[in-house]
Amino acid sequence: MKKVTAIVLAAGQGKRMNSAVAKQFLILCDKPVIYYSLKAFEESMVNEIILVTGEGQVDYCRKEIVESYHITKVSKIIEGGKERYDSVYAALKNTDQADYVLIHDGARPFISADQINRMIDSVREYSACILGMPVKETIKVVDAEGDITATPDRNTLWAAQTPQGFEFGSIRKAYEMFYRRKDEVSITITDDAMIYEMFLQKPVKMLRGDYNNIKITTPEDLFLAEEIIRRK
Ligand code: C5P
Repeated sequence: MKKVTAIVLAAGQGKRMNSAVAKQFLILCDKPVIYYSLKAFEESMVNEIILVTGEGQVDYCRKEIVESYHITKVSKIIEGGKERYDSVYAALKNTDQADYVLIHDGARPFISADQINRMIDSVREYSACILGMPVKETIKVVDAEGDITATPDRNTLWAAQTPQGFEFGSIRKAYEMFYRRKDEVSITITDDAMIYEMFLQKPVKMLRGDYNNIKITTPEDLFLAEEIIRRK
C-alpha cells in the first residue's frame, strides 16, 4: 500500500481579512474554518495529516481543533514560516516515508472526501496534479502605471485551487532546488505546482475542481461560505 500524507496549511495571518483572528480560525456556521477541510481529509483515504499552523498556535490547534473535533489522522502539528512556501517546506521536511503528498490551503473549507479520493487516484496516475477551474472573467495583465499590457486567451486560463498532489520525493526535490536558488527567482511563488514546473520541468495535470472550493481571503468570502453551507 502506498502512503499518502496530507499537508494542511493554517499558518497564514490573513491580512486581507482585516480581522484580529487568523482566517482559518474564524467561525463559520459554529465551527472554525480549518475544521471543515480537516474533517474531509479525516474521512478520505489519506493515511495521515500534518497540520501547519502559526507561531505559538500549536497547543491551541491540538486542544481546540484536533482533540475537540476528534481528527484522529493528524500525526503532527508544526509551526509554519513567513511565506506559504516556507510553511510547505517545513511540512515536507517533517514528512516521513510518504509516497504521495496532497498540499491543501486550510482556508478552503469546501473540499470533499470524494474529491480528495479522486486526487489520490490521479496523483498515482500522473505523479503531479492540481485542482482548478476555468476562469469566468476576462483576465488582463496590467503594468505599474495601471495600463493593460496583454489579454491572454481566456480559453487557456484556469484558476488554481488546492489540493495539489505530488510524488513526495519529486516535490521535496523541487522545493530543495528552489531554496538553493531562491534569490534568483523574481516571480512571486503562490502555489506548489509553480515550484514543480519551474525546477523539475515535468508536466502537472490540471483536474477540474469545483467553483465552490473557494479560498476564504476577504470578509465577503465568509458570507459566501455561509451561503454555500446553507445550500448544502
Ligand atoms: O495567503 P494565502 O491566502 O495564499 O494562503 C493560502 C493558505 O496558506 C492558507 O490556508 C494559509 O493559512 C496558508 N499559509 C501558511 N503559511 C504562510 C502563509 C499562508 O500556511 N506563511
